[in-house]
Amino acid sequence: MPIDWSPLAAILEKHERFLVTTHVRPDGDALGSEVGMAGLLRAKGKDVRVVNSSRTPPRYDFLDEDGTLFRHFGGDVQASDLADREVLVILDLSAWSQLGDMVDFVRSFPGPRVVIDHHVSQDDLGATFLKDVTAEATGTLVARAARALQVPITPSMANGLLTAIAMDTGWFRHPNTRPSTLREVADLVESGAEIHLIYQRIFERNTLGRLRLMGEMLAGLRTALEGRVSYATITREDLSRNGAIPQDTEDLVDYTVSVEGVEVGLLFIEQARGGVKVSLRSRNGLDVARVAAVFGGGGHKAAAGATLPEPLESAVAAVLAAVRQALETSV
Ligand code: AMP
Ligand code: MN
Ligand code: MN
Repeated sequence: MPIDWSPLAAILEKHERFLVTTHVRPDGDALGSEVGMAGLLRAKGKDVRVVNSSRTPPRYDFLDEDGTLFRHFGGDVQASDLADREVLVILDLSAWSQLGDMVDFVRSFPGPRVVIDHHVSQDDLGATFLKDVTAEATGTLVARAARALQVPITPSMANGLLTAIAMDTGWFRHPNTRPSTLREVADLVESGAEIHLIYQRIFERNTLGRLRLMGEMLAGLRTALEGRVSYATITREDLSRNGAIPQDTEDLVDYTVSVEGVEVGLLFIEQARGGVKVSLRSRNGLDVARVAAVFGGGGHKAAAGATLPEPLESAVAAVLAAVRQALETSV
């Protein structure tokens, strides 16, 4: 389903000052796509600011070597600093719930909004949607936009976009990895992406806190629903006891679904502001985006998330009940 990029081209004709943002708890696709998009817009001579509702996880600091690209809304940038922005470009999300502290800002943003995304779930964000749910990553879409708009991909853009695609395909392991994925990656390597350095920087710089947290999480893995589900929990206490930070939990959910015979893996993480974030992963085809939607969340068929406004124990019970129902009603 190729995207028609002419609405983006038309906006570029008319406007100069752009604001780029992405989802809360940004992952590699979110941040890597921002690097690519900022490069694209700057190549077109635009004034660009990249402002996110969450801080950048340390594992992705290499995407912003000199620390000038990613800004934190409510931290080093306030809404009033963004009054001159004409266009808002939203990457890798299509749901209000994913905007975090920027939700009110986005709701009242007066200029055009453009969403470039690949998620199935979709709210009406009052935006022009440039969307392809068959794309493996938003980074793929940004790479396609660059080609459609005749913007050469620089080495730094290529590093960002390769990070995006690699992380959303589990480094080319997940079923969303297709021949076109690998061709795109080959093009990005040709444009200067340093695949070995990206891998090293993301995965070979674990803090002791993350590794200790991971050890505890693995030790605490449980199964449910006759071994069809595996899940783990991480409390605030678990983080502080191990010297870990919330960003250290990225990808840990993958272990839950790696247990032999398991169809659905769940990771429940207590949130600093109350409530529990659940990450859901499936294999063998159960649509976990639909389970997440029961709790106001969403995502993709095989990877989804939601935040429940309740204590850990009842969140676990509620999600397990919803997963049980989904497993029983699917063939
Ligand atoms: P996560 O478990 O946070 O890694 O998320 C898995 C996938 O689901 C990602 O593509 C997220 O962007 C998406 N996702 C997570 N939480 C939500 C939510 N509350 N609403 C919509 N999509 C979500
Ligand atoms: Mn993402
Ligand atoms: Mn994505």
